[in-house]
Order: sequence, then structure tokens, then C-alpha cells
Amino acid sequence: MSSSGPKPGSSGLLSARRDAMVLAVLITAVLLLIWNGSAFFNHLRIEGSAFASDVRVASTALTLNVALILFGWRRYIDLQHEAEVRAEQEKRAALLATTDPATGLYNRKGFADRAAQLCQEAGGRSDNLVVISFQVHRFKAVNDQHGYEAGEWLLRSIADALRDELGDGAVIARLSGDEFAVALALGEAGTQGAEELADQVLRLVSRPVLLNDRIIQVGAFAGIASAPAADARIPDVLRRADIAMDRARSGRVARPVWFDAGMERALIAHGEIEQGIRYGLDHEQFVSYFEPQVDLASGEIVGFEVLARWKHPLSGVIGPDVFIPVAEEIGLIGRLSEQVISEALREAAQWDPALKISVNISPSQLTDGWLAERIVRILSETGFPAERLVVEITESSLFADMDLARSIVTSLKNQGVRLALDDFGTGFSSLAHIRSLPFDIIKIDRSFVTNVSEKRESAAIVRAVTTLAAALSVPVCVEGIENEDTFKAVVRLGCAIGQGWYFGKPIPAEQTRELLAARHRRRDERPPAAAVHG
Ligand code: C2E
Ligand code: MG
Ligand code: MG
Repeated sequence: MSSSGPKPGSSGLLSARRDAMVLAVLITAVLLLIWNGSAFFNHLRIEGSAFASDVRVASTALTLNVALILFGWRRYIDLQHEAEVRAEQEKRAALLATTDPATGLYNRKGFADRAAQLCQEAGGRSDNLVVISFQVHRFKAVNDQHGYEAGEWLLRSIADALRDELGDGAVIARLSGDEFAVALALGEAGTQGAEELADQVLRLVSRPVLLNDRIIQVGAFAGIASAPAADARIPDVLRRADIAMDRARSGRVARPVWFDAGMERALIAHGEIEQGIRYGLDHEQFVSYFEPQVDLASGEIVGFEVLARWKHPLSGVIGPDVFIPVAEEIGLIGRLSEQVISEALREAAQWDPALKISVNISPSQLTDGWLAERIVRILSETGFPAERLVVEITESSLFADMDLARSIVTSLKNQGVRLALDDFGTGFSSLAHIRSLPFDIIKIDRSFVTNVSEKRESAAIVRAVTTLAAALSVPVCVEGIENEDTFKAVVRLGCAIGQGWYFGKPIPAEQTRELLAARHRRRDERPPAAAVHG
């Protein structure tokens, strides 16, 4: 409502006052009529003179007419005024409902309405609706470093630049804090050039701007989607452009990214996995499998690594490469790992007390200050001795918060838990990491082990690690021993412990129990001398 516009409260009061006045005149006129009417009939009866009474009746009728006209006129003026005020208010409400007040661009609703209109107009020409969705990168940093007003100013300057550059044909909207969208109706050739247009948008948004002697520059990520205008559903096209923009952002791609159907399929699959994980956690679908770890010199099983498996009711047994990254992303990896560890330790507490049990801890779990307490609680709940537990962490865990990782590890080691450095040799490997925490075992990643018997570089790396580990008196475990050649090669290179399909694949708890029972029977059947040296 404009500042000069009427104030709704005072206009109501005024019209009420006017109505009261008009009503007073009306009542006076009616009273006059009653009084004069009775006087008239009295007069007829008593004096029989008609003239004086005629004058009185006429004057009363005139007063009544004037009062009625006045009343009607006032009502008409008031109603007209009220209709104008209401129309103005409705116009303002409609504007507010479809416009972003900070930039004057359309908001989400306005965008949907106006783009739908655009489609209607363009459908007949068989044009395409092209939607460019983009997000300003580091916008929050502008707010934080330069203040909220600078952020608002930047948004307005982006909006102005877009309006100037794209012209009236484009529907431009600010959808949320730092998200914008542009819709255009383009012919076939124009659609081919949409990427150039989106690139132009990116350049516009990321050009440096001067505010109070300070240069502000942000970046942007853009996604593009298109559909035939005749049957385009705006929310769908916008969602696809958003998916493409998400892809650009997650891949840090500075150029616009076109939507393709594979992105949507991946997203649906991701969403289904996410829902499935939540359901599976509540319905005990995550179980532990056990992979034997063997003393390479004697061939004896010395422990098991616990590996999570998802027993999916429709898809069967699913490996961790499918669900661990999603569980990490949605913040459920801690709950999942703890469920698996708890089940595994409850089971393994019944086994040969000489067997060690290794469990995996994701990098994100090592940023949880309560991790050590949780593991200690699992130990006490399952009755599993701390000395039999080995916690495996990867090198990448050490980068997020080394101090926190050190404090978690120290708490666990104080309880008697052992610590393994998992997947050594991958990622940002450094021999210095071996010394960064008090590791009890180093596990060389299977990528070095698989071809250790053929590749000299792999053999050299395995030898370097075993030599350093020996100097530090830390045993080395090799992962991924798949055949006899590899087994012999790693023994030659001085590795103490190994695991891999050559010794056995990960198996469920019941099978592990059977394996251990068979091992026990074999031991019992051995002659006494062999048992002593075996
Ligand atoms: P990891 O800890 O390095 O586990 C070893 C992986 O190598 C396992 O894959 C195992 O099945 C596989 N493997 C073992 N021997 C061989 C072999 O001879 N050849 C081949 N090709 N592969 C072999 P898996 O079970 O798919 O686990 C993958 C990763 O998932 C694990 O790598 C671990 O980092 C993670 N993970 C598994 N369970 C859990 C869990 O409960 N919590 C967390 N946080 N991570 C887990
Ligand atoms: Mg592991
Ligand atoms: Mg590993």
C-alpha cells in the first residue's frame, strides 16, 4: 500500500460517523412523519381544514425524500471507496505473493505462474521452455564478512544486471537466499545456444562489484533443463535444472551443466537407498559378516574383520560400497556401524578368546567426541574384552580433526583397545602417518597386494612399509590376498598377517561359528606333538 493510501481503520470510522448522521436525519424525518400524520388526522376530524395539513404532509414527505437520497448517496460513495481500497489491497497482496521484496524479481510462485503463461504463449510456436537454475557461491561469506546490507545490495545488483542483460522476454526469479532461476521460451536454435546464455548469466553473477571501496566477487553454479513449451510442467523443468545445478556444485564445475535423465535416476536411487537405510536400521537389516585374518607363518586364523552387509528384503545381500557413502552423507554411519559392531561383538564374545575382532570406523565417526564412550559402552553391554578389539581407521580420518582423533584414540587405548591403520597406501598416504598415532597394526591396501607378485613398484612399496613398520615394531597385515602367488610374495616381503579370498571370503555369523567349530575339531584330532608345535 502506498504511503499516501488511505488507512483502513480511520476510513471505517469516518463512514460509520457519516452513517450515524444520515441515520439521525432519517429517524428525525420518520418522527416528523408520525407526528404530522397524527396531527393531520386529528385536524381532519376536529377542524375539517385540509390546507394546513397538506403543507405539513408535503414538507414531511420532502424531508423524508431528501434523507433517503442523502442516505443512498452516502452509501454509494462509501461502497465505491471501499471497493477501491479492497482492489488496491488485493493488488498489493497479489504482488507480494508473487514477488521477492528484496530484489523485485519473481519469487517461486510468481516464477511458476509467469513461466506457465510464457509456455502458453510459446506452445503454439513449438518453442522450448529453457530453465537456467543457478546458485550464488560464497554468498553467505559476503553476509558474514561485509554485513547483511552488503548481501542485500549484492542481490539487488545481480537482479538489476540480469534484468538489463536478459530483457523482458526472460522470467527471472529469486527462489531462495542465494538461488535464482531464469525461464525463457526459445526456438530449436535458441535451445542449442542456451548453454551460452547460462554462461553469460554465470559471468554476470561472478563479475567483481565495488561496494564502499571494497571489491566483492562471488561465484556461481548453473544447471540447465528444457522441455517442449506446449506440455512443460514448470515445477518439473525447474527441479531438473536444480538437479543439474547440484551436479555442477558438487563437482565444482564452473560451467553450466545440462540435465540428463541419468542424473534423475541416480537421485531416485540415492533417495531410495536413503529411505531404505532408515528403514533397515529400525528393522535390523544391517548385519555383520566376518572375514578371517590369518597368521601367514602358521596359516592359523588369528581374528576376523567385521564387514557390514545389508540384508535387503528384495535385493538380497548388498555390499558396503552401496550404502556406507549414503549413510555417511545422511549422518547415520555412526548408528549403522555401532549396530553392526554391537551385533558382531555379542556373537564373537562366545568364540575362542584368542581371536581378535577388527571393526571399521569411518572418518566422520572420528569427528564425534563421544565415539570412545559409545564403543566402551558396547564393550560392557556385550561382555567383549577390550583387549580383543581392534579399531580400524583410515588415513583420511586423520585430516578432519587430528586433535579430536588423537583424544578418541587415546581414550580407547587406555581401555586396552588396539588400533589399526586401514587401507594404508591409498589417498594421501604418508609414512609419517604411521608415526602420528600409536598404531598397533598397519594394513596395506589391497591395491598394492593384488599384483605384488608381478609389479615391482607394488613390491617395493610393500617392502618399504614392512621395513619401517618392523623398525617401529608394528606388525603389517596385508589385505586382498587372492591366490597362492600373492600369499608367497607377501610372506617373502615380511608381512605377518593377511586376509583375502585365498583364506576365505566374508561370511555370516552362523557360517563363522561352523568354521570355528571345524577348526576346533581339527585341532582336537591332531596328534599331541603336532598340536604343541601347530
Ligand atoms: P576395508 O575395511 O578395507 O575392508 C576390506 C574390503 O576388502 C572388504 O570389502 C572385503 O570384502 C574386501 N576384500 C577382502 N579380501 C579381498 C580379496 O581377496 N579380494 C577382493 N577383491 N576384495 C577383498 P567390503 O566388505 O566391500 O568393505 C568395503 C569397505 O567398507 C571396507 O573396507 C570398510 O572400509 C567399509 N566398511 C565395511 N563395513 C563397515 C562398517 O561396519 N562400518 C564402517 N564405517 N565401514 C565399513
Ligand atoms: Mg577395514
Ligand atoms: Mg581396508
